[in-house]
Amino acid sequence: MKKVFILGSTGSIGVNTLEVIKCFPDKFIVTGLTANSNIGLLEKQILEFRPSTVVVSDKIAAVALNKRLNGKFEVLAGEQNLAAAAKNEDYDVLVSSLVGFVGLAPTIEGIKRGKRIALANKETLVVAGELITKLLKENNSQLLPIDSEHSAIFQCLIGEKIEEVEKLIITASGGPFLNHNKEMLKKVSIKEALTHPNWKMGNKITIDSASMMNKGLEVIEAHWLFGFSQKKIEVVIHPQSVIHSMIEFIDGSIKAQLSLPDMKLPIQFALSYPERFKSRYVETKFPDIKNLSFYEPDYERFECLKLAYQVLEQEGTTSCILNASNEIAVSKFLNGCINFTQIPEMIKESLDKIENHKSPDIDTIIECDRQTREFAEKLFT
Ligand code: MG
Repeated sequence: MKKVFILGSTGSIGVNTLEVIKCFPDKFIVTGLTANSNIGLLEKQILEFRPSTVVVSDKIAAVALNKRLNGKFEVLAGEQNLAAAAKNEDYDVLVSSLVGFVGLAPTIEGIKRGKRIALANKETLVVAGELITKLLKENNSQLLPIDSEHSAIFQCLIGEKIEEVEKLIITASGGPFLNHNKEMLKKVSIKEALTHPNWKMGNKITIDSASMMNKGLEVIEAHWLFGFSQKKIEVVIHPQSVIHSMIEFIDGSIKAQLSLPDMKLPIQFALSYPERFKSRYVETKFPDIKNLSFYEPDYERFECLKLAYQVLEQEGTTSCILNASNEIAVSKFLNGCINFTQIPEMIKESLDKIENHKSPDIDTIIECDRQTREFAEKLFT
């Protein structure tokens, strides 16, 4: 029995993780659940999975939930308890599926204990890739990607010699605005940006998919996960999202991992690895798919993707600046304060103005994140 602690159990990854766990009651047991404020769903999850630890980041929501549970379970309140729980509670696998920078501290605690981390939180590797890579080695901890693209690359690399791999090819759906020109992009509505053609996900990542920042963050993640330079990580638009990603060998041969899209597949593999468990979430029938198509990404229309490659070259805290300013820009867009094409504008301004620190430690990263948010908040007001 593997003990699983889920950071962010009411989000889309958390919900899917619990679906997977439900299919294998003899293999997994849930020991911890955390949520931000969705206590309605969390209460149902607590009663069904009976975890020993529950954390609710929002303190008012935590009080309300404690009242509803009437002493049957104790709910810890506040964001600081996320890291404390990751540090002290009992688990074998930490599913890191919080959204945003807040996921970093508890993930680090899990790594320090040498636990397996099933990683869905992109920010961990984006803002602190260098530090995380070092900590993983020092603590003999294992990071398994949940993100479908990285899971695909991870699966393709199994049994291969890394020096025989020429490059990684990450596929991108292209999002809902694949064929929009710059003028059209300026005018897209919040609702249009929140409609992803293939995946049902949370708001932040859906906007990131529409701007292609999501793919940019994934390029940075892939760099740290697999140790390939940005020159050896390619993005190709593949609107059907059937090929989840590929690796190309030095002899030109290519290996891909594919299926109809369903997040439960990469989640299950991150939990079951090195084994595969029998399941059938999706049935991939090629005659029904008929066509798989591919396009070159347009780095001028989707500047966020270009900026991600740029920060990989600049190193240091630039990826932290990119991430923090993007988070602020996305929330401003969702609040109707800026238009869609101002998202990369805000990131560029922040990268121009905030100082880059090479090989940052955790305090430098936290300070850079804070500074960037403060700066970005004031832009376009
Ligand atoms: Mg992805």
